[in-house]
Amino acid sequence: MSEVILKHIKKVYPNTEKKRKKGSSEKKSNLLVTDEGVVAVQDFNLDIKDKEFIVLVGPSGCGKSTTLRMVAGLEEISDGELLIDGKKMNDVEPRDRDIAMVFQSYALYPHMTVRENLEFPLKLRKMPKNEINQKVDQAAEILGITPYLDRKPKALSGGQRQRVAIGRAIVREPKVLLMDEPLSNLDAKLRNQMRAELIKLRQGIDTTFMYVTHDQTEAMTLGDRIVIMKDGVVQQIGTPQEVFDHPVNIFVAGFIGMPQMNFFDAELIENAGKYQVEVDGVRVELSEEKEKNLAAKGVKSQKVTLGIRPEHISLSEPGAQAVTGKIDVAEMMGSAIHLHVTAAGKDTIIIVQTMDLNGRTLSDLAIGEEVSFKFRGSEVHVFDED
Ligand code: ADP
Repeated sequence: MSEVILKHIKKVYPNTEKKRKKGSSEKKSNLLVTDEGVVAVQDFNLDIKDKEFIVLVGPSGCGKSTTLRMVAGLEEISDGELLIDGKKMNDVEPRDRDIAMVFQSYALYPHMTVRENLEFPLKLRKMPKNEINQKVDQAAEILGITPYLDRKPKALSGGQRQRVAIGRAIVREPKVLLMDEPLSNLDAKLRNQMRAELIKLRQGIDTTFMYVTHDQTEAMTLGDRIVIMKDGVVQQIGTPQEVFDHPVNIFVAGFIGMPQMNFFDAELIENAGKYQVEVDGVRVELSEEKEKNLAAKGVKSQKVTLGIRPEHISLSEPGAQAVTGKIDVAEMMGSAIHLHVTAAGKDTIIIVQTMDLNGRTLSDLAIGEEVSFKFRGSEVHVFDED
């Protein structure tokens, strides 16, 4: 059993420039600044279930690492409560929390062999030698690093080093495994491979995971649930499917999904509990489910932002029910084409499956050509924010 509970967790860094770890060149964010200092994390609440894989995701500087470091005990908690298996951990030393952490930088001991690196946390715990050997061999096997056990880290590739770092973290079977951007130093191909390996790894070990990334693909593929953060504030917590299908605001809608969701200025028209949206003179009816949600919130006719995913837009014949735009760029992606179109004053991306081109080819899609497209009321997202 390893449940982790974060209750109203807050982190304030004193507002002294010299303490800022990332230097003055950092892009200004919209973090709350109070008399006490910069509020890097505000009112963070999360109940992590035993063996759950939680991913914290959001743009750089939104407070992900700070949250993880507070769980690890590397950063003091300014306010709120951290519980692991029901025990309050705020003031417990990092080494007594039964937590392991994997960093982007691997942090291996360069003068030790891979075997010695893996043995290290177990020796610290004064585990008998034969048990150490057994655990190290097992971790090496799981991670496919058995052939490199006698090498020093500098004789390994980046991917192999990261496997050793993960091995060193799992070898003592911690209650909670924290990972801070563990794949960010790897090239794209290796990153995809390691991502798949992490999915396999978690099935074999009895540990609760908290994983930090700025990469929404990693978040979507690894997380049982993902926590989306912005400016120190949790925006939404849910399964990958929930946050994809029901983003709570424009930020989440734009952050999750590739290519990004399209946004249009639109009018919401309410008439006796029925709703339509109008974009560029084209009106569609909303689905019953969406109507119910809007009616429950008492939303009336108003200006809204309409979100439509690129995969939910289809090319059509010109006509009253279609929006018209001009092609800016056509990107061949293999089985699909990403069409960038300026429509209703916005850059719009449409994913066209190559087989939907009706006998036309990519080269027939001339830049500047007019195209028309449609979307369905059941697949749009209505946001009553700007
Ligand atoms: P993320 O992991 O999402 O990139 P961080 O948790 O590292 O974000 O940082 C959140 C905010 O807190 C940033 O504005 C960062 O500059 C600030 N910060 C992080 N560490 C410190 C520190 N030791 N002292 C002061 N400010 C810090």
